[in-house]
Amino acid sequence: MEHKILRLTISAQFGNTVDTVYPTILWDEENTVLVDCGFIGSLPALEKELAQHGLTVKQLTGLVLTHHDHDHMGAAAAVKRANPGIRIYASKAEAPYISAQEKPLRLKQAEEMQKTLPPEQQDFGRAFCDMLSRVEPVFVDEFFSDGDKMPWCGGCRVIATPGHTPGHISLFVEKDSIVITGDAFVLEDGRPVIANPQFTLDMTEAESSLNKLLSLNAKAYYCYHGGVYTKA
Ligand SMILES: [Zn+2]
Repeated sequence: MEHKILRLTISAQFGNTVDTVYPTILWDEENTVLVDCGFIGSLPALEKELAQHGLTVKQLTGLVLTHHDHDHMGAAAAVKRANPGIRIYASKAEAPYISAQEKPLRLKQAEEMQKTLPPEQQDFGRAFCDMLSRVEPVFVDEFFSDGDKMPWCGGCRVIATPGHTPGHISLFVEKDSIVITGDAFVLEDGRPVIANPQFTLDMTEAESSLNKLLSLNAKAYYCYHGGVYTKA
């Protein structure tokens, strides 16, 4: 069966900096699944990127959210409005924060940090909390557990990679030997490291998740915050 794994490029401006992320599309004859969807307000950018491949948001059959951070699920509610038939997947541990049945842990953390920020960082901290509180929740249709298999692109395995958040997941597209890491790691000078240690909710878990991904027999790792890692 024919299939393709595509990487999209989504940028957004935050103050003076531009942040760029790389959602993945798992595209086969029956499914067109987006893995993470960019920032609040990224829907037009997403439409543009999809159009480059002859796709539209309405054609997406699924959206996997690796975790509840704003840069991964910021556009999820807008995607769901544009395409009400899309199925949204996340781990059971992460779903309550994605659907805001519980207060998002990232917002809680940012509000706690705000109390200890020096005066010159207060404005930035407040803007960050405001932005996090503007992330629109979305209903999760299907819960993933470690080891679950989806038929996408010839077979796709869910890998639980907690640490960055408690219910973080990555995907292993076994046929192509490609791992979609989410934020289980980022690349620094080409090497895999823990993403944003200061925001990582459990460092010990994050370390073992990173090692778990590296121990997979995978030829390439697609990192959401840029770069493709290949083992030497
Ligand atoms: Zn991220």
